[in-house]
Amino acid sequence: MIPFYVAGRPATSSDVLTVRNPGSGAVVGSTSYATPAQIEEAVAAAAAFAGFPSGGSSSAGSSSAGFPSPPSLSAADRAAALDAISRQLAARADEIAALITAENGKPGKWARGEVNRAVSTFRWAAEEARRFSGDLQRLDTDPAAKGRIALVRRVPRGPVLGIAPFNFPLNLVAHKVAPALAVGTPIIVKPAPATPLTALLLGEIMAGLDLPPGMFSVLPVPNERMPDLVADPRLPVVSFTGSGPVGAAIQAAVPHKHVTLELGGNAAALVASDWDDLNFAAQRIATFGNYQAGQSCIAVQRVFVHARHMSAFTPSLVAAVQALDVTADVGPVIDSRAADRIEEWIAEAVTKGGRILTGGTRSGTTITPTVLTDVPPDARVCAEEVFGPVLVLTSVDSDEEGLSAINASAYGLQAGVFTRRLDLAFAAHRRLEVGGVIIGDVPSFRADQMPYGGVKGSGSGREGVASAMEDYTEPRVMVLTGV
Ligand code: NAD
Repeated sequence: MIPFYVAGRPATSSDVLTVRNPGSGAVVGSTSYATPAQIEEAVAAAAAFAGFPSGGSSSAGSSSAGFPSPPSLSAADRAAALDAISRQLAARADEIAALITAENGKPGKWARGEVNRAVSTFRWAAEEARRFSGDLQRLDTDPAAKGRIALVRRVPRGPVLGIAPFNFPLNLVAHKVAPALAVGTPIIVKPAPATPLTALLLGEIMAGLDLPPGMFSVLPVPNERMPDLVADPRLPVVSFTGSGPVGAAIQAAVPHKHVTLELGGNAAALVASDWDDLNFAAQRIATFGNYQAGQSCIAVQRVFVHARHMSAFTPSLVAAVQALDVTADVGPVIDSRAADRIEEWIAEAVTKGGRILTGGTRSGTTITPTVLTDVPPDARVCAEEVFGPVLVLTSVDSDEEGLSAINASAYGLQAGVFTRRLDLAFAAHRRLEVGGVIIGDVPSFRADQMPYGGVKGSGSGREGVASAMEDYTEPRVMVLTGV
């Protein structure tokens, strides 16, 4: 049985969690759910490390002139730990990628890409840990503040509860753990029930480092026990990546906490009137509408194409989608419930007048990459997050109409605009209601250091190492007088 980690130490329970491959159903491995007592131990240890009064005595700190220092790891310690994690992930990349493929089902090349990204997420966090600092502000621009300066330091808000989804079992956990470690705040990670083993392997790597007890826990927790954990006052920061309904429930349950919500989307790409390389756009849209079976929050879903390109673009897109290898490029969706839902949504789109240009079939948990057109905007494949290998192609009469069509969504994570025109790029950046606009490519591009997150139904707050470090801390000012 693969252990989980309570306050940095391996543990198990009798409540077994068996992990199966989404494609074959074969058992990948078993771990167990943390018991209420083990969850309490993890929370108490995190609170004690953070020096929270309810958590008991602080775990570290030397005395200076009678004042105990807050428990802390130096920037050098934090950066060294982050670099060590990065190196170990790189050294074990093949093994970890194979584990991601086994428990999540994503094809090997995407699993390997995810490991590479996590390697750089931790390395980048090590750099940020070295840089992370406060600010010295002069206050005497206000005559009443003559002779005063402010020293602004960023103080951790307190232990973080990081809740992760199934679709990037390593890198989305990395996006919570690395910034926490970079600012020296404890974190409890709750991986998705379908894909806990990769997060536990990361836990194993972290347990091999000389981190203070309480710095991290990795706990599989049954969903029904999550509301209590979310509500625990000793965890003032909740960083959630997952679906809209669960995110909304968390926000409603703990409005007083600092909550980051990285939720879903129905990302759009616009092929604008000036774009001259239709094959490139078709290839990119085919690839990133279907990679890891479309189970990415920024997978392309809605495709808007200027009317002048439609007759050339449509066969190009269909050919690019048909050229995908279902095993090597696409893979299964996470379970048969997800496959049932996607099948149902495709059928609904057809009932509403949509036409299937390619795909639309299913074998087990694998959905054939599908392109639909003539779909009304209220069909769920347009209006909601399909989270499957489905593209919906729509013609627009102007670039302006394309931007409006992108905005006609309950979500707003990222958008892609294929254009070389600066005025359109700036108009898109100004007007699109999203967290990021990718010019010249699909919305699915993400570099792990950039601010990343959404607006509207796609959530609030930003990840990306530096953004999350800001998020996990708050400024505390000391005003010095007579300087
Ligand atoms: P999910 O919402 O079903 O589960 C996410 C996590 O929340 C899991 O760990 C789950 O066990 C936990 N959870 C379930 N019920 C809970 C509760 N009541 N309280 C607290 N936690 C609870 O999502 P999923 O199916 O694992 O992931 C897919 C979703 O994640 C998609 O909507 C996708 O768009 C979104 N996502 C968003 C981003 C982003 O950065 N914006 C990235 C990846 C995935």
